[in-house]
Parts: sequence; C-alpha cells; structure tokens
Amino acid sequence: MPTRPVPICTKHKVPKEWRPTTFEYAEAAVTIRVPNIYAWVCPESGEASFLPKTVDELVYTVRDLLKAAKRTQERQSMPTEYNILVGRPVPLEAAAL
Ligand SMILES: [Zn+2]
Repeated sequence: MPTRPVPICTKHKVPKEWRPTTFEYAEAAVTIRVPNIYAWVCPESGEASFLPKTVDELVYTVRDLLKAAKRTQERQSMPTEYNILVGRPVPLEAAAL
C-alpha cells in the first residue's frame, strides 16, 4: 500500500479504497482487461485510479496484446474472448496473508 495519504473521491466525498481491480483498455473494438491490479477505488462508483507507475508497467503488455487481438479479429471464426495467465497463479490461502 502506498504511504501517501488516502485520496478522497472529489465527486462522492468519500475516501478511496486501495484494492485489486480490473485494468481495462479499449481501442478499435478490442478491449484488454487485466484483473487483480491494485488501484485506488471509489467505493461509491467503483471507479479506479491507477498509479502512473502501474499504468507505465501495463502499457507495454497491453500494446502487444492489442496487436495480437487485432490479428485474431480478422479471423472471423475465432472466439471473441481470451483469458491469459502469466506465471504461477497465487493460491487463495497465500493471497489472504
Ligand atoms: Zn466516487
């Protein structure tokens, strides 16, 4: 958790929560979703504010995935949704510690 003070949602006047959410990037009918990314989330609207550092790290991967997705999109018989896991999934017990 970042050490800076908890940001307040200017719209709902409530403190945001530091928790995992889904990073979403859409371009030309292709949407890339990256789950379990930590961000400041407004408990009222669920709107997430990602740290610039987090966005910088994700943007390279997202760009590569977009390129692959656009190629796939041209093949009309292909499925429209893919889930990709990179690395070893974290067991639920370990994630709760
Ligand atoms: Zn809000």
